[in-house]
Amino acid sequence: MSLFDISERAQQLQNELLDFMDAHVYPAETVYEEQMRAAGDPHFHPPILEELKAEARRRGLWNLFHPHPATGAGLTNLEYAPLAEIMGRSHLAPEACNCNAPDTGNMEVLELFGTEKHKEKYLKPLLDGTMASAFAMTEPGVASSDATNVELSMVKDGDEYVLNGRKWFASNALHKNCKVMIVMGKTDPAAPTHRQQSMMVVPIDAPGVTVMRNLPVFGYADREGHAEIDFKDVRVPVEDLLKGEGEGFAISQARLGPGRIHHCMRAIGAAERALELMCKRAQSRVTFGKPIADNANIQDWIAEARIDIEMIRLLTLKAAYLMDTVGNKEAQTEIAAIKVAAPAIALKIVDRAIQVHGGAGITDDFPLAMSYAHLRTLRLADGPDEVHKRAIARRELRQYRDLRPEGI
Ligand SMILES: Cc1cc2nc3c(=O)[nH]c(=O)nc-3n(C[C@H](O)[C@H](O)[C@H](O)COP(=O)(O)OP(=O)(O)OC[C@H]3O[C@@H](n4cnc5c(N)ncnc54)[C@H](O)[C@@H]3O)c2cc1C
Repeated sequence: MSLFDISERAQQLQNELLDFMDAHVYPAETVYEEQMRAAGDPHFHPPILEELKAEARRRGLWNLFHPHPATGAGLTNLEYAPLAEIMGRSHLAPEACNCNAPDTGNMEVLELFGTEKHKEKYLKPLLDGTMASAFAMTEPGVASSDATNVELSMVKDGDEYVLNGRKWFASNALHKNCKVMIVMGKTDPAAPTHRQQSMMVVPIDAPGVTVMRNLPVFGYADREGHAEIDFKDVRVPVEDLLKGEGEGFAISQARLGPGRIHHCMRAIGAAERALELMCKRAQSRVTFGKPIADNANIQDWIAEARIDIEMIRLLTLKAAYLMDTVGNKEAQTEIAAIKVAAPAIALKIVDRAIQVHGGAGITDDFPLAMSYAHLRTLRLADGPDEVHKRAIARRELRQYRDLRPEGI
């Protein structure tokens, strides 16, 4: 799958994961649907997920994202990419292997910037898969694709901060195991623009925290939830400030780099599965005396899908390789580029696979409709396309800035 060299261990994990997907994950998809339907609660935690988690753990397919060998798989981004892609083929696999967002990003933040107490109380159960967490940056009141806009106030009062404001789209906040949030707010509105923000660790049941509602995705309630949350005089001890006052923006940049590329890796898996389903359906159904696959336009879609997948996979691997070799900062352009390209291209492929399935494509008999809804949200989550394009264009233009007319 990869042009780049990967270790024997990473190769073994790939084989193990492929086997786990075939033997357990795909068959679990219908069981999951049945258990969710029977429960009648969109945020129900179905037993099949815990069964998958136990099996993944037994096979050593646990915390694969985690770069530190002591706590996780210790793989490079390049080695993790094919694994994340395979997990991206089913919506159940990332959680089954404890590799799902936003927990992965939160674990990395707690590992890097958390105190020993945070690590014991939150990081350990997160790594164990017994706890879930949320990340609360986006606010309904301000355009949050510019993170410097966040307004939730964090005012120091003795050895505590007092938090007031409103967040929304905090994914995972309605997960049955969600116990903690990492919250970004403003500690010093007078500081330089990128030093005004801080991040704090806040229990989801802290007095003054109210989970108001789940935000639907195209009318559907995602199991983990995307919550609107009110903060009213929430008191947070100073030791729950991460890294230091004014470090919130820097932490958000550190957190979002790996998270963004993980989304892209999984999007490629979703695109591969859609292509596979598209081919199977096109070969097996007949109209006007020939299989749907024999029509030139359908073959065009299939060929384009293969070409597009190969292109986004190569760009993802390049970004992963740069992250491993020269660091996340140096890989900014490639990370931004793939964050734009992968969801948009995967979305186009899923859309065409839906078309080839006819009416069945938009039902839940196939994973395509859910995949479409999820991929569409990825063009917004972790920064909308336009913001990433802006960053790429600014870097390109910077090389020619001396050509700008003076005084403008
Ligand atoms: C399913 C889902 C899950 C999410 N999970 C989380 C989460 O767990 N935690 C969290 O904090 N947030 C989360 N988000 C929020 C997401 O990160 C924000 O929606 C995103 O950053 C955009 O912010 P906004 O919604 O305030 O849009 P705005 O900032 O209001 O922007 C609106 C639109 O304006 C356009 N735009 C903005 N800037 C420019 C520009 N410079 N040039 C051209 N056009 C521009 C873009 O098209 C953008 O979509 C999630 C979102 C979704 C949909």
